[in-house]
Amino acid sequence: MSDCYFCVHGHFYQPPRADPFTNHISREPDAAPYANWNERIAAESYTPLAEAGSFERISFNLGGTLARWLDEHAPATYERIVAGERAHYAAHGVSNGLAQPVHHTILPLARRRDKVCQVRWGIASFTHRFGHRPEGMWLPEMAVDEATLQVLVSEGIRFTILSDEQVRGSMENGAGPYWVRIRGEEEKIAVFVRDRHLSNTLSFDMPDPGNVDGWIWDHVRWRCQRDGLLLAATDGETFGHHRPQGAAVLQRILEIGEQHGYTITTLGRYLRDHPPKTEIEIVQNSSWSCPHGLARWVVGCECTEGDSRWKGALRRALDNLACNLDAAYEREALKMGLEPWALRDEYIAVVMGEIEGPELLARHGLSKLGAEGAQRMLWLLEAQFYRQRMYASCTFFFERLERYEPRYGIANGVRAIALTCYATGEDLTPGLYRDLRVAINGQSNRTGADILDEILKKAEL
Ligand SMILES: [Zn+2]
Repeated sequence: MSDCYFCVHGHFYQPPRADPFTNHISREPDAAPYANWNERIAAESYTPLAEAGSFERISFNLGGTLARWLDEHAPATYERIVAGERAHYAAHGVSNGLAQPVHHTILPLARRRDKVCQVRWGIASFTHRFGHRPEGMWLPEMAVDEATLQVLVSEGIRFTILSDEQVRGSMENGAGPYWVRIRGEEEKIAVFVRDRHLSNTLSFDMPDPGNVDGWIWDHVRWRCQRDGLLLAATDGETFGHHRPQGAAVLQRILEIGEQHGYTITTLGRYLRDHPPKTEIEIVQNSSWSCPHGLARWVVGCECTEGDSRWKGALRRALDNLACNLDAAYEREALKMGLEPWALRDEYIAVVMGEIEGPELLARHGLSKLGAEGAQRMLWLLEAQFYRQRMYASCTFFFERLERYEPRYGIANGVRAIALTCYATGEDLTPGLYRDLRVAINGQSNRTGADILDEILKKAEL
């Protein structure tokens, strides 16, 4: 019999849904009978999976916004997820969890400083929740370029996951792991390669719980004729939300390996026991959800229906705003003799409630600022948090500018503008308004500026 291993990786993520001004989630009628989608998906997927003990046996990443929501609104489920990871860590000495850049930013599209921030915030969040540093990191939408991998390596991350259409070279070792060398550097990172076909078959052609053995026979068993790892990586919500039978099916897959000639494993364990031997190359600017070189999040592409030119205009508007927000923050920080970006990267500890804002400033030698100066700095740091959140991938993912997600991206920008205005008196709204006038929703002809007007009317500034 071959030495065949099988790993299921679940990407658990929900975009932020709370109003950036009130932190309140509006009722989402299409999620009925639940008040909003987070509640519904928790009941259908996260809670049953946690109760079945799946988080101890699969490989997974848990997005920051979702983790925070679960912690507050479904604490028993959250605790079971954390306990699952900790049990795996205690049993095997390695984690089965991967970190995730906090705001699910498409990292190849971010400037280096923002890549570093998202990766550091992701590592800090993981460490905060699970009590030890992560070894692996999930890339949002699996979007990759070499500069992103270089940042992962320099921040101490050992491995990530890509899809088989995103890599080139000999794939003789199945899911790997393989080395990917960073050109011009001595560095390399381990990459696991998911089997796209197997992953999609699991997601879109899922069997009934009673037919899992037949499904394994058809889709897994022949792949297990040789030694190595099989990796199915998919959205975690597949199990129970997208497919109602998913939690039971997953449970069965995790239980019946012995009968079918595979051993269930996790990526952390497998990497420790099977370090990479051969190298592959990545396809730069690729992702698992857009075959058009990341165009989905830049200028629009055939992945979404209709006129998607608003995406380029919205990105330009947010980039200009980000540039202005950064300039205001940097100016104030330098005036106080601070290294602005190191301080910003540490600010996540305040967001997570590990320390109070004034204590963070004191660590940076700012105890003499006085209450007013400290408050100014904390407003600007908070503005940086919302400025990062403008770039959640879902802001640009869907077909219409008038959807909730782009509106939410703009609302985060408005929140960052308000905080900056409290701190410096400078109002950056006119520039955003000007830029959003050329972001046009194809069907209705309404512009980003119309949406901005609505947000400003509603916002409690
Ligand atoms: Zn596309």
